[in-house]
Amino acid sequence: MKTIAILGSTGSIGTQALDVVRQMPSLFQVEVLTAHTNADLLIQQAKEFQPNVVVIGEESQYEYVKQALWDDDVKVYAGTKALCDVVRMDCVDIVLSAIVGVAGLAPIYRAIEAGKQIALANKETLVVAGELMTKAAYDNRAVIYPVDSEHSAIFQSLAGEFHNPVRRIIITASGGPFRGKTREFLQNVTKEQALKHPNWSMGNKITIDSATLMNKGLEVIEAKWLFSVPLEQIEVVVHPQSIVHSLVEFADGSVKAQLGLPDMRLPIQYALTYPNRLANELPRLNFADHPTLTFEEPDMETFPCLRLAYEASREGGCMPCVLNAANEVAVSLFLRDKIGFYDIPRIIEDAMARATYCTPASVEEYLAIDKETKETIKQSYKD
Ligand code: NAD
Ligand code: MG
Repeated sequence: MKTIAILGSTGSIGTQALDVVRQMPSLFQVEVLTAHTNADLLIQQAKEFQPNVVVIGEESQYEYVKQALWDDDVKVYAGTKALCDVVRMDCVDIVLSAIVGVAGLAPIYRAIEAGKQIALANKETLVVAGELMTKAAYDNRAVIYPVDSEHSAIFQSLAGEFHNPVRRIIITASGGPFRGKTREFLQNVTKEQALKHPNWSMGNKITIDSATLMNKGLEVIEAKWLFSVPLEQIEVVVHPQSIVHSLVEFADGSVKAQLGLPDMRLPIQYALTYPNRLANELPRLNFADHPTLTFEEPDMETFPCLRLAYEASREGGCMPCVLNAANEVAVSLFLRDKIGFYDIPRIIEDAMARATYCTPASVEEYLAIDKETKETIKQSYKD
């Protein structure tokens, strides 16, 4: 029996993680559930899974959650600081971070310091502070298991290859809803169009990131830290069917890949049950249903966010943090119809050009740069 804390249990990954846990009741005990604002779903989840603790981010909802769980033996905390405390509890073996954005940084760092096993969906954490996180994980013997489907595929392809150097990592991208579209077309696309992802149903922020290809850029940086592979050896290939989840090439030219239907429950389960593969009821891949698997080069001219992510990672230091912060604000502005699609890369490029290179050494320093970058952009949009 493994005990688990799910941070962001009310989101797309969080609810799918609970689906996995629900199918394997003898393997997992949920000890912690957390949500930012969706108190009703958090209460419902707490009643079903009877965790030790729940945390509601929005402090104004504390009384409401507390009252609703009065008769259940569940402790209720509120606020962001509580997240950093609950991940360290002795009763927790695995921390699954399904929080979106840089908000996941501090709690995961604390969980790593406490030597917990980490199942990481929150890619922004590694994008912003990959060096700090991976070093802390090494020092504290905290293993980080990828949840992102591409990184799970790479992880699975690397199994048994410990002594074999990697020549290339090839991350697949669906291309999102705007694959093959021109710059002219993209000038005027709406958030409704951008939110229609062809293959995956996900939270709004990552869905917009998929439409701009920033998601792939963030995943390149995530892969660099997770697998200690230099940026020059990480490539992106567009594979619209989302069946091949990513590939690894070795010195002899052999390429290994992991395939499956686009269903996040599979990589979530693997991160939680590694190294075991357990039988489940998930739909199976039938090759006759997918007779054509295609691959093409990504278009970095039409989708500049991917290029910007490579640039930020190449520069290193605070640049990926600036890239991520600017992207988070720009996506939020786009989701509220305050800017157009191409304002997203423009805002990011401007923020990177303005930023002074530095090498943050702590979570607090990263969060200060995140805040400063966001505030400057928000001021210019009166947001
Ligand atoms: P989502 O928006 O559906 O859910 C986000 C969760 O985080 C919610 O439970 C919310 O309550 C919580 N949250 C939001 N803001 C918070 C804050 N400031 N503080 C604390 N908690 C907060 O997002 P998602 O699609 O589930 O994505 C979560 C993470 O997983 C992202 O980093 C995303 O890139 C990554 N990811 C998602 C998918 C997917 O299929 N959805 C796939 C791969 C990776
Ligand atoms: Mg992914």
